[in-house]
Amino acid sequence: MIEIQFWWLVVLPVFFGLGWLAARVDIKHVIAQSKSLPSAYFKGLNHLLAGETNKAIEVYVDIAKNHEETIELQFTLGHLFRRRGELERAIRMHQKLLARRDLSSAQKEQAQLDLAIDFIKAGLFDRAETLLHELSETNAAKAARVELLAIYQQEHEWQKAIEIAQQLRDESHTYQHEIAQFNCELAAAALIRNQIEQAQVYLENALSVHRQCVRARLMLGEILFSQHQVQMAIDQWLLIEAQDESYLSLVARNLLKGYEQLGKVEDGIELLIRYLQRYPELDVVDLIYEHLIATQGVDAAHKFVRERLRDSPSMPGLRKLLEAHLLVAPDDQKSEIELIGKLLHDNTREHTMYYCHECGFKTRQFFWHCPGCNGWETYAPIRGKRRKQAE
Ligand SMILES: [Zn+2]
Repeated sequence: MIEIQFWWLVVLPVFFGLGWLAARVDIKHVIAQSKSLPSAYFKGLNHLLAGETNKAIEVYVDIAKNHEETIELQFTLGHLFRRRGELERAIRMHQKLLARRDLSSAQKEQAQLDLAIDFIKAGLFDRAETLLHELSETNAAKAARVELLAIYQQEHEWQKAIEIAQQLRDESHTYQHEIAQFNCELAAAALIRNQIEQAQVYLENALSVHRQCVRARLMLGEILFSQHQVQMAIDQWLLIEAQDESYLSLVARNLLKGYEQLGKVEDGIELLIRYLQRYPELDVVDLIYEHLIATQGVDAAHKFVRERLRDSPSMPGLRKLLEAHLLVAPDDQKSEIELIGKLLHDNTREHTMYYCHECGFKTRQFFWHCPGCNGWETYAPIRGKRRKQAE
């Protein structure tokens, strides 16, 4: 015991000494650097921190003119120009950088990548593509591929997007969702050209890359349905429950249509009610309600929403109940119910939208590909739901 305590007495001061030395060296380094930097640099930094990009650019352009050697500053300026949407200036800055002979290979690659990104922002995809392909054997290859993937998605070049995504695959990002979705996009395009078999091949590809790809099952079912193979279409759609039950909301309308074709609409409604009991969050109450009114009348529909609300109270459920109530209420109560319904409707509008859990973009229509952030499968398929369920 005594020995250990003794050792600590020796070791601790040494540690403190090292820390002190490190701090001193650091401070000296900082002082030396700040002397070599023009004070205008800090002025520019202050503007940047205050969000005054215009003023910062003025200052930096001035420094860059007088200090041609400051390569990093030229990069910073290029970024600032691009961020402010001054693409011509950004392009000129990066072209000038690229033409310099004193760049390291890493800096040269960075300048080329930056120039390509400027071209993408300016919509000059062909020029960007050429520059990015040239980087494919360099250390910037991965970053270049990420940009190429963005181009091909914007250009709807799905086959090329698949190839790039396959090259980008690694343990941290398998791209299986994306590759499956690209195949679904190819299938959709093939369907427009009426190439049904080709579309089916793409959809099978999607499922082989990502067997949980709901969209592929949905589309395979739709193809079968259009070929009047209704039972087979239903069988495809039923498989979605095992893939991801929250997407049953999206397929519910199709399922009912299928059962209707078979003359078994009651079975369809029963199935949806069973789903709802199993997954109370599902966005199918409206649909069941509409069908109950059409097939079994107002009273059955009213009873259904009343029971739903009792089992799983929710604002959309309450709204539906009022709607049902309105249909059976005596005339002298109708205006009052209408008023409550309107109030409720105004306050629960958010429940009628789909939300992207990546960027928060909201829309009335469901998207597989978010128009806000370009993410794939980022929308919960349940209206009003803002967050994806934990996987
Ligand atoms: Zn988004």
